[in-house]
Amino acid sequence: MRIVLLGAPGSGKGTQSQLLVKTHGVPQISTGDLLRDAVAKRTELGQRAKAAMDSGKLVDDATVLGMIRERFSKPDAVNGFILDGFPRNIAQAEALEKMLQELGTPLDSVVLMNLDLGILFKRLTGRRICEECGKVFNVFTAPPAAGHKHRLIQRPDDKEEVIGKRLEVYEAQTKPLIKYYDAAGLLRVVDADADVDTVFKSIDRAVKK
Ligand code: AMP
Repeated sequence: MRIVLLGAPGSGKGTQSQLLVKTHGVPQISTGDLLRDAVAKRTELGQRAKAAMDSGKLVDDATVLGMIRERFSKPDAVNGFILDGFPRNIAQAEALEKMLQELGTPLDSVVLMNLDLGILFKRLTGRRICEECGKVFNVFTAPPAAGHKHRLIQRPDDKEEVIGKRLEVYEAQTKPLIKYYDAAGLLRVVDADADVDTVFKSIDRAVKK
C-alpha cells in the first residue's frame, strides 16, 4: 500500500494514519513528525525548519525532500507507506512522482479528507490539553466534565494567529494538489466530518477502489 493522506491541518490525517499502520502494516511517514523530532533534538535541520514551523509557513522543499528521500531508503518503507502531510505543494508532488518512478513503485491512491474550513478552525482553536494527564479536549465540541480540576493548556501551534496562517497556506499551496491528483486518476474523497471509526471505514473502502 502506497498512499497519500491529503487534507488540511485538523482533518484527522494523523489519527487515521495510525489506524492504517495497524491494519496494513506499513509505516506512517509524517513530515510534520519528522520535523518536530528534528526541532526537539536541535539538529541543524531542525534549527533551520523551526522559524517556518512556528509561524505556520511551509519548510523549504529541498529540506523536506531530502528528509523524504532518506526515509524512503529505510527497510520498513519497502512494502509501502502512508504519507501524512506530504506532499504539501505541486513542486513536492512532482518530486515525489519522480522519486517513486525511479524506485518503480508508483502511488496506489491519494485520499482527500474533506472537511469544512469552519469546522477545521473550531477543531484546532478549541483544542486544549490537560496539563496533568495529557488528555485532549475541545472547548467547543468535547469540553472537560464540570469537576475537572487540572489546568488545560493550548499548544503554541494551536494559537489562532498560527492556525489562520496554516489554513491559508493549505488553501494557497496544498489545495491545488486535489486537481493534480484528480487529473492523474488517483484521487479518492472521503467525508472527514464523522467519528474516527466511520472515517476509517470510508478510507478503507476508498483505498480498495
Ligand atoms: P503538520 O504536523 O503536518 O501540520 O506539520 C507541522 C508543520 O511542519 C507545518 O506547519 C510546516 O511548517 C511543516 N511541514 C510539515 N510537512 C511539510 C511539508 N511537506 N512541506 C513543508 N513544510 C512541512
